[in-house]
Amino acid sequence: MYSDEHVQMLISETQLKTRVQEMAQKLTEDFRGRELVVVAVLKGALVFCSDLIRHMDLPLEMEVLGVSSYPRGAETTGEVRLTFDLTQPLGGKHLLLVEDIVDTGLTVDFLIQTFEARKPASINICALLHKPSRTRVHVPIDYTGFTVEDHFLVGYGLDHGGRYRNLPFIGIFNPAQVP
Ligand code: 5GP
Repeated sequence: MYSDEHVQMLISETQLKTRVQEMAQKLTEDFRGRELVVVAVLKGALVFCSDLIRHMDLPLEMEVLGVSSYPRGAETTGEVRLTFDLTQPLGGKHLLLVEDIVDTGLTVDFLIQTFEARKPASINICALLHKPSRTRVHVPIDYTGFTVEDHFLVGYGLDHGGRYRNLPFIGIFNPAQVP
């Protein structure tokens, strides 16, 4: 069992597995018979998305995209840009955007605006985690795994300074304990 003095477990591996399977089952029912493109937002959503699609029992395509927000000190300016785009046109296809966590909502808001212009048949948002207390822009989240308090979380794809993405659970990162 992985242990790290800076990380306190919040959502266990078993809880993640159960919830991801439930979400995948619901998505399978909702998207049956539709031409679906599942898009993982790099890098944080990769782990979640790869588990999710393996439990989705329907034909689909998977894409990845990169986004970056311009930093201003610890907070973001709210400006988001695409750093890596999809490899196919979306016209007429059903798009499922898979995010690790919706925090302020700025990233998802930007993605919806960007992809609406490409005229997909529909856009749905699937987020493993949602931090409603941090909302700056209200965005529709169609599928949510867990609603969480305002902590900085790591694991299961989420990083701190590039580390911790490989943790099989989600934990609270405690910088106070960093020497
Ligand atoms: P938003 O645009 O909603 O403010 O932020 C979305 C992105 O911020 C997420 O995809 C994620 O990369 C990052 N983020 C927000 N909260 C956390 C957190 O608690 N831990 C980590 N590791 N990243 C976070």
